[in-house]
Amino acid sequence: MNGKALVLFSGGQDSTVALAWALDRFEGVETLGFDYGQRHKVELDCRPVILERLRREFSPWAERLGADHRLDVSVLKEIGGSALTDAMAIAQGEKGLPNTFVPGRNILFFTLAAAVAYRREAKFLVGGMCETDYSGYPDCRDDTLKALQATLNLGMETRLVIETPLMWIDKAKTWELAERLGGRALIDLIVEETHSCYEGNRERRHEWGYGCGVCPACRLRASGWERYRASHP
Ligand code: ZN
Repeated sequence: MNGKALVLFSGGQDSTVALAWALDRFEGVETLGFDYGQRHKVELDCRPVILERLRREFSPWAERLGADHRLDVSVLKEIGGSALTDAMAIAQGEKGLPNTFVPGRNILFFTLAAAVAYRREAKFLVGGMCETDYSGYPDCRDDTLKALQATLNLGMETRLVIETPLMWIDKAKTWELAERLGGRALIDLIVEETHSCYEGNRERRHEWGYGCGVCPACRLRASGWERYRASHP
């Protein structure tokens, strides 16, 4: 596809697959990460390692991969009250939402991404959001992002397009998509270098990567891996 894309890239599994998807399609791809005082800040350290390996090991993608941007959004930690920003136990909260929900996070992220895209002349915003086997965060849903796309374009007089390649596939299919895009090499990279665990655990290595193994992010990643492996022995 012609045009330039800006990928919301956290260093996690989903945003890394979304990045590979963008690299497979767009002539130019830039990345954007956010520091919001997340407890699993270790994911930010994974970002440069993943980008470096993508450049080194995936030659057709190397020339398309452009600048990496990082923004400080510590205001989210200042607001607080979430298990992702405060020292509190992860638990199911009110309205069926876990207390890892950070209100406004994706709305803020996409708004900032649109501003960066405006400056960088990128037409496509790509994110790894998914509403299939997800944590129920309402700002990951397709309807939210469609409405946000309209608002952003009205507010900036642009024709930005929000692309979410993982929206309707589950975690097993996300591994499959990674395999289709970058083969075994990309699967290995995702297992080894991406980070999903809410506890920021990089000590325990499982077949599916590093993590505590019990937090909701680890459980989602592990069950997706098991289903993927069962159909791709
Ligand atoms: Zn975990």
